[in-house]
Amino acid sequence: MIAVAELNIAKKSRKFNDFDYYEHNYADYFLLPFRFISLNEEKEVLVNEVGDFLIVSKGTAERIILKQLNSSDEELYADLIANFFISKERIPVLIDVIATRYRTKKSFLDHFTALHIFVISLRCEHTCHYCQVSRVSEDKSAFDMSRSHIDKGIALMMQSPNPHVTMEFQGGEALLAFENIKYAVIQAKEIAVRFDKEITFVICTNLAPVTLEMLAFCKEHEILISTSLDGPEFIHNKNRHKKGNDSYQLARRGIDLTREVLGEDGVSALLTTSTLSLDYPNEIVDEYYNLNFGSIFLRPISPFGFATKNAKKNKYNTERFLEFYKKGLDRIIEYNLNGRSFREDYATILLKKILTPFPVGYVDLQSPAGMINNVIVFNYDGKIYASDEARMLAEMKDFTFQLGNLDTSSYNDIFYSDKAIAITEAGINESLPGCSDCAFQSYCGADPVLCHSTQGDMYGHRPTNVFCQKNMAIIKHLFELMDSDPRILKVFNNWVRGN
Ligand code: SF4
Repeated sequence: MIAVAELNIAKKSRKFNDFDYYEHNYADYFLLPFRFISLNEEKEVLVNEVGDFLIVSKGTAERIILKQLNSSDEELYADLIANFFISKERIPVLIDVIATRYRTKKSFLDHFTALHIFVISLRCEHTCHYCQVSRVSEDKSAFDMSRSHIDKGIALMMQSPNPHVTMEFQGGEALLAFENIKYAVIQAKEIAVRFDKEITFVICTNLAPVTLEMLAFCKEHEILISTSLDGPEFIHNKNRHKKGNDSYQLARRGIDLTREVLGEDGVSALLTTSTLSLDYPNEIVDEYYNLNFGSIFLRPISPFGFATKNAKKNKYNTERFLEFYKKGLDRIIEYNLNGRSFREDYATILLKKILTPFPVGYVDLQSPAGMINNVIVFNYDGKIYASDEARMLAEMKDFTFQLGNLDTSSYNDIFYSDKAIAITEAGINESLPGCSDCAFQSYCGADPVLCHSTQGDMYGHRPTNVFCQKNMAIIKHLFELMDSDPRILKVFNNWVRGN
């Protein structure tokens, strides 16, 4: 049995109890809120309200609920008491500890929106088959964000209650509008002084147009680079079409140059998984490992919108992705067991929720969902969307998640409108049918955009929902891996502590 206590996570509030405390009648207890799910033929996992878990033998949840514990369950009984699954009192003495831990888990809500995405240009010199936003046009006025919209976006960002905001520049290819990025960074820094805000700057770029001058500016202003790398050359160039078929070489050149100027940690890379990628999990993992990245994010392509228009290249079912994910994760774990720390990012986010008491700021695995309360998107044309996926949906002429316009909307119009409230309500998994009694609720999130676009309403239907299928399978798999080999549990603990 793995108990939270064994995971070496200090719970500083615990004291040793007197001997009398352990004198009890095994059936004489009260149930605290917890949920459970079958893991495999032999095991099930119990998860309490704050995400603490116990992996136990099948049938244990039933015995606990029917109060059939007996003297042979001494160790289990102590674990259940210590981890707030049951209590000797109707209201546990340590109820304030549970409340504090719950508040800590939800503390990502404390400061409201952090990530502000500025779609600085829709122009791009690539024509990737899964991308809906690229415009090869040279017409800057039609597809670049105007300076007036940049100013208005910055003004809204300064109104966020969050003292630490992130300003992320996206495209198209963001570097094609580098003069506007320079303008935006300098303006934002100047204004931030007045509002006492710290800003992290990120540019998302394929790195093809990068120059030493651009990188010198990034160094001066501590701007991080997030690039795209789809794996080895034969996959990357197939996915990321470009005249000359040299996308991979340009990305490699850009990564090397960026590391030279900004240092090893100045550039991270993101993978897009096409149908072609699914056959090459090991090769893709090896590419990231060999290029000395500290991690790789094995993430599926959006199952809606433009990406799936080219069904042959980009539409695949969740089972195929899960097969790819598990093979890739095995390879990554193997590297770790051989001595070098190398993380899978999605697993690390989930494991942080499973193995630590801390909150996680990843927008796709939050409840309430990260859109609006953690991220907002200012599009190149001044329209404002609830998330990046929401603006991609708008490219398909579905404006359900448009929250306003930089020219006409006030902060309150955008963030506290009826629409914003309706979206937020649909993104609270504690109250979603299916999620409300799911054992993995505290590790998972909600995705109203995905539900709307794949199932026709923002609330969705869990048994046929790809977001649910993916998360259910991956979380179960992580529990099974932890339970199967203590060395893997050690690797996972290293991942969550190293971040
Ligand atoms: S989406 Fe699925 S796995 Fe996630 S909490 Fe809801 S029911 Fe559970």
